[in-house]
Amino acid sequence: MLTPLKKSINRVVIAGGGTAGWLAASLLKKLLGQAIEITLVESEAIGTVGVGEATIPPIRLVNQVLGIDEAQFIHDTKATVKLAIRFENWKTKGECYYHTFGAPGRSMAFCHFHHYWVKARQQGLMNDLWDYDLNYLAAEAGKFAQINAKDPVLELPFAYHFDASLYAQYLRKLSEQMGVVRVEGKIARVQRCNDSGYIQALHLESGEVIDGDLFIDCTGFKGLLIEGALGAGYDDWSHLLPCDSALAVPSERHEKTAPYTRSIAHDAGWQWRIPLQHRNGNGHVYSSRYISDDQACDTLLSNLDTKPLGDPKLIKFTTGRRRKQWYKNVVAVGLSSGFLEPLESTSIHLIQSAIVRLIQLFPHNGVTKSLIDEYNKQSELEFEQIRDFLVLHYVVNERTDSAFFNDMRNITLPDSLAHKIELFKENGVLQREQNDLFLESSWLQVLYGQGVMPKDYHGLVNSVSDAQLNQMLTKLLELKREPIAKLPSHDDYINGMVAKYKRSMK
Ligand SMILES: Cc1cc2nc3c(=O)[nH]c(=O)nc-3n(C[C@H](O)[C@H](O)[C@H](O)COP(=O)(O)OP(=O)(O)OC[C@H]3O[C@@H](n4cnc5c(N)ncnc54)[C@H](O)[C@@H]3O)c2cc1C
Repeated sequence: MLTPLKKSINRVVIAGGGTAGWLAASLLKKLLGQAIEITLVESEAIGTVGVGEATIPPIRLVNQVLGIDEAQFIHDTKATVKLAIRFENWKTKGECYYHTFGAPGRSMAFCHFHHYWVKARQQGLMNDLWDYDLNYLAAEAGKFAQINAKDPVLELPFAYHFDASLYAQYLRKLSEQMGVVRVEGKIARVQRCNDSGYIQALHLESGEVIDGDLFIDCTGFKGLLIEGALGAGYDDWSHLLPCDSALAVPSERHEKTAPYTRSIAHDAGWQWRIPLQHRNGNGHVYSSRYISDDQACDTLLSNLDTKPLGDPKLIKFTTGRRRKQWYKNVVAVGLSSGFLEPLESTSIHLIQSAIVRLIQLFPHNGVTKSLIDEYNKQSELEFEQIRDFLVLHYVVNERTDSAFFNDMRNITLPDSLAHKIELFKENGVLQREQNDLFLESSWLQVLYGQGVMPKDYHGLVNSVSDAQLNQMLTKLLELKREPIAKLPSHDDYINGMVAKYKRSMK
């Protein structure tokens, strides 16, 4: 039985100073301001997980809210632009497709673009879906600029790749400037109230005691407060996403910096390549049931396209989510709240949305059961929706050369996902669940990219004559291609931003 904490919340203690800790500190301080005092405890000796360098477009909202200057951000975090993820070897070995942040075509009254395109393909059209996607065209051409067009189909939605440790430093500086107090030290003991079980204070090895009203657990996979002290429980989703290990290594940077993340499927998992200004980030995510750590390491190193800059770092994880992400007066944010592999770069986004949710449901006048229940309901749905989208990548594949991918085609799917795939296969219908982070265009690109072509298209398409359909597609093709020639190269854009920042500092 949960005992409500009937006291106002003024002192927030954040345990952990990785991306989660510093993002929580900066956003909470910025948005809740003087209403709360924030103390963050972190241990340099323990360090951070040190990965997490690819993001998705909502990160730009964080930067806006925090009032971050883009040129300075790109300069300080060695960031590059991300327009898409290029999935290689996922359908079959040798084939690739893009999941872009844009959308192929344009949506027409009540009917998504792909229905028109499917009909045209049935009539012999040769153009691929992505020929109608500006993000794809710019990614392939290695070009980028921010486009503020009146017509949203002519914009280039984008995110960033950045150096995770520089990003945490950047957020730390910002947080401290706003008044967040940082304490260096190792948490040795967590003190709880005998009656309510609520956390009262963190005892550091140094003897220092940090007490607070609300505690945010950002201590990484171990979940020192939420699990270590409170035992909130964990839902293990390894039966759906069996990868449980990753090896990460930086390598020398490429001369030309691609504006996309690469995800290259191997025999028992996949490898990322994230281009930064000063290096590439690489990692191999795999299932240890199918491949040993040594074999996985060989695979990673033999698939680097530039020289490694150190030894690979091994990280073990269990995919799933903390059963109660908010429990008593502790809210788990970041890796302590659960982990979904970085296939679609969603973890930093999950941090961002957890903090926004906490701010919306902030217990100014005390922790109540209804606030906790609402928070946990929303976060459970969010994790499940992202999980389903990740699982999709594994189950729709045509790889017959790998035991791992063969097995993944045959796993028992959550009903929600099985329904979605069937709906698309049979009817071409893409139904976005309420609040699903991934829009129809994302589901479309992965489904089609991995070989699922709908049997049918929507009847509304027949209200357009064949000649009109042809003309419409030709025009759209021209419209989407037209801006590409005028865009600078991605490297020129990044160099321009860095130079702009340096000029502003003179
Ligand atoms: C292989 C891999 C690849 C990833 N790639 C991406 C990606 O591309 N995009 C993305 O969005 N996300 C990615 N992620 C997730 C991303 O790395 C994390 O979401 C992000 O770094 C946040 O981590 P964190 O702050 O929760 O934990 P951590 O970085 O582990 O930080 C934990 C903090 O707690 C502190 N701490 C722990 N114990 C104590 C103690 N006893 N006393 C004091 N302090 C303590 C540590 O010192 C540290 O400051 C990836 C994750 C993995 C594993």
